Amino acid sequence: RAKQMARDRVEVYDPEFSRLQEQRRQRIETLRESIATGGIDLDFQPLMNLHDGSIYGFEALARWQHPQEGRLGPAAFIPLAEQEGLIVELGGAVLIRACLEAARWNSEFGVRRSVSVNVSAQQFSGGEIRRQVRDALEKSGLDPALLELELTESMLLDDESTAIQIMSELKSLGISIAIDDFGTGFSNLGALARLPLDRLKIDRSIISDIETNDAAASIASAIIAMGQRLGLRVLAEGVETAGQMEFLGDNHCDDLQGYLLGRPVPSGDVPELLRRRPPGAGAIVAQPVANR
Ligand code: C2E
Ligand code: MG
Ligand code: MG
Ligand code: MG
Repeated sequence: RAKQMARDRVEVYDPEFSRLQEQRRQRIETLRESIATGGIDLDFQPLMNLHDGSIYGFEALARWQHPQEGRLGPAAFIPLAEQEGLIVELGGAVLIRACLEAARWNSEFGVRRSVSVNVSAQQFSGGEIRRQVRDALEKSGLDPALLELELTESMLLDDESTAIQIMSELKSLGISIAIDDFGTGFSNLGALARLPLDRLKIDRSIISDIETNDAAASIASAIIAMGQRLGLRVLAEGVETAGQMEFLGDNHCDDLQGYLLGRPVPSGDVPELLRRRPPGAGAIVAQPVANR
């Protein structure tokens, strides 16, 4: 009877299991191939200075140009790349592309705009990020002052002294460092004050509630005040409504990112956003970028 059950299990589960395994193996191979051949592309989302309304930079967001499935967002491949040990190479490719693009804005359009690049835990903790940043700066000729790295709290807090050392080396190259998705982990605020940081990015999950939830509003305004007292700039992520922007203005938030200002766009659409002049003195008016 046990034999019979085993045989049933083999018949019922195995083909499905091995089919899924085969699919996954295929996907990993395709991803590996894409990373090696430039199939990881970037979209750029504008970042706005709330004090003068200017677009001061862009966040680079990875997209997978999949040979069959088209352009895929990070959820479809970043976790896979992390599990399969491909994320360090992928991150290096993203960094170079982002720096080349930003250097081109400078040389072709004569504007200074920063580029922000997301860094994965493995890239940072293994220390590879230092070589990758040096490499990308050298190959692109980008002014280091125009590069910002986005790290998350979780990668900084388990081994604070190593994190500080890597961050300090990065900072000595002249680049900036931001904490991404701030407010989603249980922040070690003491450590936060010791880290060589330039910016906090308040997570979208907090910003999306500020108009409807008093607690979220209090948390957002407290983060803004605290960040600024620590000498950091504070950016609000995921701003979608004029009401949220007004709240952020009233609470002296420095910078903003979100669909209200503009969705991530392919690099070909960036030049149009580079031509935008900051509005003159007076009320800040949201200038939605044509949403695709
Ligand atoms: P993130 O770094 O927090 O990036 C912001 C994400 O929020 C982006 O999603 C962006 O499209 C989205 N977003 C921006 N404004 C709004 C808004 O107003 N409303 C809503 N609903 N969403 C908004 P995306 O491009 O899907 O990226 C998701 C995450 O994938 C990123 O979150 C980042 O953690 C990760 N990621 C993206 N590119 C890379 C990369 O090159 N390397 C690594 N390690 N991670 C990356
Ligand atoms: Mg980010
Ligand atoms: Mg973010
Ligand atoms: Mg976020």
